[in-house]
Amino acid sequence: MATANQYRNDIRPNWCPGCGHYGVQAAIADAVAALDIAPEKLAVISGIGCSSRIGGYFYAYGAHTTHGRALPYAQGVKLANEDMNVVVCGGDGDAFAIGMGHTIHAFKRNVNVTYVVMDNHVYGLTKGQTSPRSDVGFVTKTSPHGSFESPLPICETAIASGATFVAQSYMVNRAQLVDLIKQGMQHEGFSFINVFSPCVTYNKQNGYDYFKDNLVNLPEGYDPTNRAQAFATLGETNGLVTGLIYQDTTKPSFEQALYAANGGPHARALVHDVVKPDADVFAALCNEFK
Ligand code: SF4
Repeated sequence: MATANQYRNDIRPNWCPGCGHYGVQAAIADAVAALDIAPEKLAVISGIGCSSRIGGYFYAYGAHTTHGRALPYAQGVKLANEDMNVVVCGGDGDAFAIGMGHTIHAFKRNVNVTYVVMDNHVYGLTKGQTSPRSDVGFVTKTSPHGSFESPLPICETAIASGATFVAQSYMVNRAQLVDLIKQGMQHEGFSFINVFSPCVTYNKQNGYDYFKDNLVNLPEGYDPTNRAQAFATLGETNGLVTGLIYQDTTKPSFEQALYAANGGPHARALVHDVVKPDADVFAALCNEFK
């Protein structure tokens, strides 16, 4: 049986003391340990931002990709390595601003990867600017009169875009977060988990007290397969609700649809069964493109 310590390397995170991302890293390690995933069967792919440093702190495969581009990279990793467990990580700026085009398409495409977004409503790495999730009135150095834009309702956006697993959690609630990551990784298709993870340095407005006072859990008896109820609940709680908000197990994953149409995992064949050309064949190929 795997243990959470197995996924630790000897690099010490350089997040600020008290940053929420420590708890997210621990929760992912707990979840993959509980699922007994060997480190060589785990890939942690991240974008750019404080939260995206997380991949460097795991003993597993990983790539610290470019800003907003973790998802296309991760989907390629998964399609070429169908037995790899792929966890994608980023922050709300990386995921919902520069990367939003990819995020929307990942919601609808339904490749079997798990996307954990550390949502702190601010850009931390660049020292505190508004993100697409910042509250109206949020004062930063670049919005001295307060943000005028309404925050992106990301869970509604995910469901409306065709996502099949939409959950939300708070990093303080470790047991719930671990359980949701496990469920997400076992879901057949794309799983999206938005995690409130306070930035103690650049967002004093949405700190630990704010989330403690404002977040509510989904009510007893809530049915995550009920799409209309998911939208209604998100509206009633202003999006500040935690738990498994929506799940659709009827839509085929991208891989299932692709293989049904094309007869097999061709991308895997590219990686595993490729016949390496000898020097002459390779030179001839190169000449074709001169
Ligand atoms: Fe965490 Fe904010 Fe510090 Fe970045 S700036 S490490 S998000 S507390």
